[in-house]
Amino acid sequence: MGLFSRKKKPEPEETPPEPQAEEPAPGNGEKKGMLAKLTRAISRTRMVLNRRVLGAVGLGQKIDDEILEKLEEAMIEADFGVETSDFLMGVLRGAWKNGRIETTSDILPFLRVDLKQRLTHRGNALRFAPKSPTVILVVGVNGAGKTTSVARLAWYLEKTGHHTVLAAADTFRAAAVEQLKTWSERIGCEIVTGPEKADPASVAHKAAERALEIGADVLLVDTAGRLHTQKNLMDELRKIRNACAAKKIEGAPHETILVLDATTGQNAVVQAEMFKQAAEVTGLFLAKLDGTAKGGAVLSINEKVEVPVKFVGLGEKLEDIQPFDADQFVEALFDIESLSENQDAG
Ligand code: GDP
Ligand code: MG
Repeated sequence: MGLFSRKKKPEPEETPPEPQAEEPAPGNGEKKGMLAKLTRAISRTRMVLNRRVLGAVGLGQKIDDEILEKLEEAMIEADFGVETSDFLMGVLRGAWKNGRIETTSDILPFLRVDLKQRLTHRGNALRFAPKSPTVILVVGVNGAGKTTSVARLAWYLEKTGHHTVLAAADTFRAAAVEQLKTWSERIGCEIVTGPEKADPASVAHKAAERALEIGADVLLVDTAGRLHTQKNLMDELRKIRNACAAKKIEGAPHETILVLDATTGQNAVVQAEMFKQAAEVTGLFLAKLDGTAKGGAVLSINEKVEVPVKFVGLGEKLEDIQPFDADQFVEALFDIESLSENQDAG
């Protein structure tokens, strides 16, 4: 954290927005509503973990190699995906070897604590620059969900009291600029565009100027997904950085958010590696979590990419964004209370 401090109250992660709410601080009911949405999004993983995976070995069994093998088989049969199964089994084997779990009843309580720690130890809150504007660069491959996520972030930031300006720096396709323009009108925030095929850095430059002029808190920069070579990507990011520096916005970009399509599993991890080599990625936006039956992918992505998950996308609308809350996520994933119900039922 060091250099950065969170800007002001209300703090984003404590005040997740809700579409109908006029007030930035949600009440209990709204929090429950979002938890329900998240729970729905990952319900298949949850059901499967409880019912099929742990159901396969039963509770209260002394853990041994055979039980662990059974668990692994059950995970694979339940279509957890190789990465998630490998990851979870690695965690469990380690915990068993060093005596932290002894019976199958210890598994869920152990994972609940262990996974929360793994998901939170890098810090999930958006970092704000000490002096406005905070510049947030949004990167990722074509179709990952960048533009939608820029819009959702702007919506969320505005909702939580941060005056936001958008830079449509994906100038390769006119449609991308139009798409962001439409979003900005709905959100009611300013957008800076350039002519088609303009140098993205020139748009960033103009946007930085505008953000300073109107005293914006945040400048959100959408980028092109065509940066498939590392050199292009690095060049582009450098130019955008320089454009901000030329406007004396120190330390920009303060966040480089990589948008990953959560439905793509291992592919998302590969993309993350490429982007990490080209830029200092400071946070992940996991889009399309609603579209995946494998909510567990969040765990393996978090572990492999070693960059904190900061937001998740749960649909195509503006309000389908949630600051990543590891507690909620893990509770929803394991839904410990329903384990006995599921076992009774099945
Ligand atoms: P970009 O090329 O990276 O800018 O991607 P876009 O923002 O244009 O999104 C590509 C497609 O994914 C669009 O159809 C979006 O509506 C869709 N999309 C983005 N985020 C989500 C999400 O969280 N859930 C779902 N279901 N669809 C999403
Ligand atoms: Mg786009």
